[in-house]
Amino acid sequence: MGSIAHEPDEAVMVVRLRRGLVGESRRVCHVVPVPSEPVPDELVAYCGARILPGQADLLSHLTGMPCDSCLAMTVRPGRAGLAAAF
Ligand SMILES: [Zn+2]
Repeated sequence: MGSIAHEPDEAVMVVRLRRGLVGESRRVCHVVPVPSEPVPDELVAYCGARILPGQADLLSHLTGMPCDSCLAMTVRPGRAGLAAAF
């Protein structure tokens, strides 16, 4: 599962696999670019996780355990320097 490149200002959403599809330890919150079409064949998270329609819940905010890889991919280089200064 490879990560994907993303645009710095693209709209994103947070999704989590539905209960029962995977074990609780794998039900992390993935960051997914908002698709251009209403119902795409699949969503691809920043970490590369592929999520099929009906497999995930769309969350209104980051809650629970975040996906480490998705979280790392959301850090913008311009802001990483600012964050390191504090
Ligand atoms: Zn992820």
